[in-house]
Amino acid sequence: MIKLNIKDTFTQELPADANLENTRRQVEEAVFSYANPKKTKAPKVLHVSTEMSETLGISIEETKSDFFKNIVTGNEIYPNTKPFAMCYAGHQFGNWAGQLGDGRVINLFEIEHQNKNWKVQLKGAGETPYSRTADGLAVLRSSIREYLCAEAMFYLGVPTTRSLSLSLTGDKVLRDVLYNGNPAYEKGAIVSRISPSFLRFGNFEIFAARNDIKNLKILTDYTIKHHFPHLGKPSKDNYIRFFKEVTTSTLEMIIHWQRVGFVHGVMNTDNMSILGLTIDYGPYGWLEGFDFGWTPNTTDRQNKRYRYDNQPNIGLWNLYQLANALYPLIEDAKPLEEILEQYKIDFHQKSFAMMKAKLGLFQDDKNDLELVQQLEDDLQLIETDMTIFFRNLSNFSNTKTAFRLIENAFYDVAHISDAVKMRWISWLENYENRLKKEVISSEERKKRMDAVNPKYVLRNYMAQLAIDEADKGNYQLIDELFQLLKKPYQEQPENEKWFAKRPEWARNKVGCSMLSCSS
Ligand code: AMP
Ligand code: MG
Repeated sequence: MIKLNIKDTFTQELPADANLENTRRQVEEAVFSYANPKKTKAPKVLHVSTEMSETLGISIEETKSDFFKNIVTGNEIYPNTKPFAMCYAGHQFGNWAGQLGDGRVINLFEIEHQNKNWKVQLKGAGETPYSRTADGLAVLRSSIREYLCAEAMFYLGVPTTRSLSLSLTGDKVLRDVLYNGNPAYEKGAIVSRISPSFLRFGNFEIFAARNDIKNLKILTDYTIKHHFPHLGKPSKDNYIRFFKEVTTSTLEMIIHWQRVGFVHGVMNTDNMSILGLTIDYGPYGWLEGFDFGWTPNTTDRQNKRYRYDNQPNIGLWNLYQLANALYPLIEDAKPLEEILEQYKIDFHQKSFAMMKAKLGLFQDDKNDLELVQQLEDDLQLIETDMTIFFRNLSNFSNTKTAFRLIENAFYDVAHISDAVKMRWISWLENYENRLKKEVISSEERKKRMDAVNPKYVLRNYMAQLAIDEADKGNYQLIDELFQLLKKPYQEQPENEKWFAKRPEWARNKVGCSMLSCSS
């Protein structure tokens, strides 16, 4: 037994589904339904984020216990707690999808530690009333991807839900990875995830869509009370302020994604956290070659709705849906519209400031916008590795030597045309001139640039290598990547091999650059 400081607020303060059967159905007038995790055949913990466990007041020793294993795989229920699944709806790929809910997530309890409240949930723990046509389970490959990426994002300074543990269930799960009629059995797995809140835009949308204003208000008041307490008592003005804060944190999160080259892949409103945290790591990907039009999600191959450069616009689109959902509590469109208009202005200003920081430009110059836009065009002339380019640029001293630096970021170094080379030389000359206006030393500039341009990110093929190894029963690479990604901005000479372009074999390999939602 591990002593946890359980402090449930969600189930204590919000309306529960009166139906206690775990059957698939529409659930009305409730924020959640009670549902227990499925017992698993041979649970085994593969990895624990010890930083996260300590944040919850669970010692490293305790994470090695059978009790911990049983809790994080759903085989034992912590005394006096009642697991549940949340009810939410969502817009998927731009269309209203109705009720979705936690179809393969089961929430366990809330832990309070050092004055912070954390929700604990299991992803892949079996059916709930929201499982619709699926099985409520998760496979090892997607669990490794979620487990590693959430922690990597945290250490990159990107707002995110966290991972506590990655476990095998010992059960087999049938999946058709490519949706081409070739299902195969895979290893089942469970990630235990942690967040101050797992509420999504879709939790609010569902009540608005059903015109259930009573419960919309109960949920919004709960959210403000626990997550935006500085806003004070519920009132129309405070609902507007609440919406404003959600727009700000959503935009900040997306600017971070743009900075590190993260593409979420499924920015449906049911995957948008009310706290502006990156949530639901599915068919996400990392930019290798800088490409505004790139998306890792094969389900979105046609429209590329969730492509890299569209993420800020989609953030706004999703916020419109949230505004519509909150409207019945506010009954005044104007302040909501003003906030959404401001998002557009802030987006341009913040993304420009972010790009300038990546370039080490801290003074203002009238040509800066052009310099940034020119760079974005040039980065797409030939396939150019985003991470390597920006990381190497902090070593810039002059145009003559700089081309060598950035050449390392080009995928096809042998075939760079003179025209492309000229374009780059011209940009580098402009950059060199521009740097003369900076007042900080080049050492200081490098320090600041290296603090926003990561050296190590979870490249798509790296996660896939860890998955391939894990499929064979070797789990060391999961830990190697986990440790590497804890210090993404630091030089790690022993890990230089991970500061490299994507190997050619990974270019079109399933799992590396092509992912589906089948997880
Ligand atoms: P996602 O694309 O993972 O954000 O999931 C969208 C919706 O489908 C959510 O309601 C999920 O809970 C549900 N879902 C996804 N995978 C499964 C699964 N294997 N079993 C049950 N529900 C699922
Ligand atoms: Mg989801």
